[in-house]
Amino acid sequence: MADLSPLWALVPGGSGVPLAKVGGAPEPVGALRWPACASCGTPMRFLFQLPHVPGRLDLAPFAAVYVFQCENPDTVCLRWDAHLGANAAVAVEAGPASVEGARPSGIPYAEWSLGFAPAREDTEALSVDINTATDEQLAALDRALEAAPESKVGGVAGWVNGDATPECCGEPMRFVAQLAAMPFGLAFGDNGRGYLFRCRSGKCGTPFRFMWQGA
Ligand SMILES: [Zn+2]
Ligand SMILES: [Zn+2]
Repeated sequence: MADLSPLWALVPGGSGVPLAKVGGAPEPVGALRWPACASCGTPMRFLFQLPHVPGRLDLAPFAAVYVFQCENPDTVCLRWDAHLGANAAVAVEAGPASVEGARPSGIPYAEWSLGFAPAREDTEALSVDINTATDEQLAALDRALEAAPESKVGGVAGWVNGDATPECCGEPMRFVAQLAAMPFGLAFGDNGRGYLFRCRSGKCGTPFRFMWQGA
């Protein structure tokens, strides 16, 4: 089995990684501006946060990234899309902690801590292009998706509906993390998965982007 990337399963309810969590209120490590939806202007709902963890999750120079999406019940903002502004992955550098900007009126998601557990996956099988894959490669992909952690940092994206790696600054973005809708009850379509990516340019104004795929 090819195992090329450092990989950590995100364990719901796990401990030992301060600032890694789903739901509740964001815990700022610096100046966090609460994002509003670019489509409808409503403050977005907080989904999850991941911290920089040396040797395991490299977000440098940022101390944490916070992910939000529009859940305005009166609109159909395209919140699964990496580029349309109906979700946001806000990277924050360490500094005096504050949260600025309007908050949404609804209740937050239930709060879960996240632990990190060492994991393995079949990187080669997961990286196959489904448009050109043989039946054998597709079967290997299914087995690898079944065996790989549903929520993780590192490794390769385990797509629900096929590779949709977003581009930024003219290049495919680098995969950072994946979070399954369950057990958290996150609104990623029908039991979907969310994907966090980083721009390969060091000068990007939006260094992280988020998207999801539902079944
Ligand atoms: Zn919206
Ligand atoms: Zn970029």
